[in-house]
Amino acid sequence: MAYRIAIIGRPNVGKSTLFNRLVGRKLALVDDMPGLTRDRKEGKVTLSGREAIIIDTAGLEEGESQSISERMRAQSEAALYESDLALFIVDARTGITPADQMFAEIARRSGKPLILVANKIEGRTSAEGLYEAYALGLGDPIALSAEHGRGVSDLLDRVEEVLADVDPLEADDGESDDEERAIRVAIVGRPNAGKSTLVNALLGEDRMITGPEAGLTRDSVAVDFAWNNRGIRLYDTAGLRKKAKVTGRAEQLSVGDALRSIRFAEVVILMVDADRPFEKQDLAIGGLVADEGRALVIAVNKWDLVEDKQARMKELRAHCENILPQVKGVPVVTTSALSGSGFDKLMTALFEIYELWNKRVSTAKLNDFLIDAVDRHQPPASHGRRIKLRFMTQPNARPPTFAIFCSQPDDLPRSYTRYLENELRKCFNWPGVPLRINMRKGKNPYQP
Ligand code: GDP
Repeated sequence: MAYRIAIIGRPNVGKSTLFNRLVGRKLALVDDMPGLTRDRKEGKVTLSGREAIIIDTAGLEEGESQSISERMRAQSEAALYESDLALFIVDARTGITPADQMFAEIARRSGKPLILVANKIEGRTSAEGLYEAYALGLGDPIALSAEHGRGVSDLLDRVEEVLADVDPLEADDGESDDEERAIRVAIVGRPNAGKSTLVNALLGEDRMITGPEAGLTRDSVAVDFAWNNRGIRLYDTAGLRKKAKVTGRAEQLSVGDALRSIRFAEVVILMVDADRPFEKQDLAIGGLVADEGRALVIAVNKWDLVEDKQARMKELRAHCENILPQVKGVPVVTTSALSGSGFDKLMTALFEIYELWNKRVSTAKLNDFLIDAVDRHQPPASHGRRIKLRFMTQPNARPPTFAIFCSQPDDLPRSYTRYLENELRKCFNWPGVPLRINMRKGKNPYQP
């Protein structure tokens, strides 16, 4: 269940700039969900592993006169009502105005957790406004420059602190607790690999524009569909909107776009062209997926054009092991987006890797594993002392993340961590997902 965070404040304090900074311009469009009033924008983000929907009330300002209309007031109240947390923005440069006072009152009355943000702190004139903000009696303001990105991490830290104590409301984001949540999937790959064709085929309707020109479609978009009764929310780096924008910079795959989709996704399908698989860009993207800790499936597309399929497959698998060692055993599936074959295999691989990515192993089993793995291959000595690995636990899944408590973590060679990673993969059947192992100094943290 996603948290809902409303950005409120009088016109021109920088609400949209902050929204764009948190959500990204492109996805601000994407998550413009149907049924919403056009008065506000919503965008989904992941903040320290928590899903949140950011609501921008700035759209209300359009066509506003000097005064703040009743409508804006009412809409802000409505947004607050539906939110778990409000970011109340004031302009530190102009200082606190009567309108700010009014919004402060609305915010206070809502009884919702609130973070006061003093924006536009880039200039020297802003110091006074910052002090005035204290006087609102809404706690310490976060000093921010949404425009330049200053203070954003402070803000996110505070958001995280506040949300840690809050249970998300039953928000209407189309998901309910008893329903299985839609898996968020992104399809990335070089232009012309066949991404749009795949999406069209999966959706069963011609919602994307495809064509022979490389990079015809642009922009990230999202769409929901189901496969074998399993909900999927698909992010694509190409455009779903009927009239795709054709821009000059469209030839190159934009890593920024890909990265944005990757961050939103839980599973990423990297689509490569069977004719020219694993060019530099493909590998760069595969690496990004692993770095971002997402589950990866490689779809080798246009398989219909390949002649010696068996030999090529063998070659591809071997190649994959070498080029993406971070995700050893990553599923490689062949597809023909054009003729519609291979989709079942692709989706099966997707669901499987998603399960592995979510998998947790008990602390007891991990410590049996650790003892055994260390027994078979001892860590080296450092400064004459053998490095001891004392305790292992898995604090997180998505991706599986482990903490190992170690006597001298800084001296443990990376090769040893890699050894443990490979053993983990084998022992608990964890192929193809990025595994994170953090070495911590100390003993078993649960034993004083
Ligand atoms: P995108 O840029 O990755 O979205 O690629 P498109 O989906 O626009 O596809 C680029 C071109 O490749 C189009 O002309 C498609 O018809 C063609 N194409 C896509 N998938 C296949 C496939 O599986 N086999 C063959 N032979 N052609 C394909």
